[in-house]
Amino acid sequence: NLKIGVVGLPNVGKSTFFNAITNSSAPAANFPFCTIEPEEARVAVPDERFDDLCKIYKPGGNVPAYLTVIDIAGLVKGASSGAGLGNAFLSHVRSVDAIFHVVRAFADPDVIHVEGEIDPIRDLEIIHEELRIKDIDVLKKYIDTNDKVISRLGQSANSGDKNKKEELVILKKVLAYMEEGNDVRKGVWNNKEVEYINQQQFITAKSVIYLANVSEKDYLRKKNKYLPKIKAWIDENYPGDMLIPFSGAFEQTVSLLDSDAKEEHIKASGVPSALPKIIVSGYSGLHLGYFFTCGPGEVRAWTIRKGTKAPQAAGVIHSDFERGFIMAEVFTYKDLKEHGNEAAVKAAGKYIQKGKEYVVSDGDIIFFKFNV
Ligand code: GDP
Repeated sequence: NLKIGVVGLPNVGKSTFFNAITNSSAPAANFPFCTIEPEEARVAVPDERFDDLCKIYKPGGNVPAYLTVIDIAGLVKGASSGAGLGNAFLSHVRSVDAIFHVVRAFADPDVIHVEGEIDPIRDLEIIHEELRIKDIDVLKKYIDTNDKVISRLGQSANSGDKNKKEELVILKKVLAYMEEGNDVRKGVWNNKEVEYINQQQFITAKSVIYLANVSEKDYLRKKNKYLPKIKAWIDENYPGDMLIPFSGAFEQTVSLLDSDAKEEHIKASGVPSALPKIIVSGYSGLHLGYFFTCGPGEVRAWTIRKGTKAPQAAGVIHSDFERGFIMAEVFTYKDLKEHGNEAAVKAAGKYIQKGKEYVVSDGDIIFFKFNV
């Protein structure tokens, strides 16, 4: 069950975003620390291919892919040393797989800013520093504890302890790197290092998608004075990371409308909601993809990590499918679209049998054969 967490300073629009995304109407309050427990929501990942498949197969039921989003409140300057809600929420951040970093790029005298003036770059740096300090603290404790264990063992060390020594050498290197002010994900690590890094659940190793909350007015006119600076900061510090502007105010309005009124409002505004793009980016931020199973009974999207082989993909449906795996019969959404139906895909020779080494591609439509 993979999750993406929403982080940012108080009053930047996290709850507003979260509520819009879950279509819930829970009130977002104009004061810091209003949300204490992280809220969790499962949102369907919009996908034209999935909608198409439902049109083609007209199944009795359908199950899209889901993204689990968690609203994590309480991150303030000094959080890593206990300010605000302190460490409680930092452990929530550790448990997510990727991060939506919401940064405030709207001015509104009615909405106080915990740091005073509106300054997205300062805010970005505060959050990054808090998260990095948290990683450093946790790592230091881990290294200290294990250093003691190793020195107690002394001469009697066996091969398991040798691995521990190797791990500690690597983690000390990671620690030094972070203490220079770097996030783990910025580093270039070899396979062995990655192996140990992955065991640590570092917050600063997680993929980040930056979401700039701009005013409704700016969102509609597609112009905001802070955006170029935010973009430049990301390009300098985290090249390749995505920045998506949205407007909490706009999304809130849209999310409260029923679907007809929603369409009308979006048409009249001349700009779409940013949420579908945000959800899809979140999903790919988790390095996930999916394959489909299609039939008259059900069209369903099954989530897999990129690079998953056919038997393990079958195992996502049921462990018996993996254990008794014989083959996967595969065709692509593209071929189905081109030929119109399954029979035509077969006639065109595009319905192909694959073995256990086959790496499933995003958008594959699969029928598994297995022994019971
Ligand atoms: P959080 O503390 O980060 O969860 O922030 P909230 O979502 O509670 O938002 C704080 C306040 O800012 C609320 O009063 C929101 O209504 C307001 N807000 C959120 N997005 C926007 C926006 O795009 N424009 C304006 N003017 N206000 C917003």
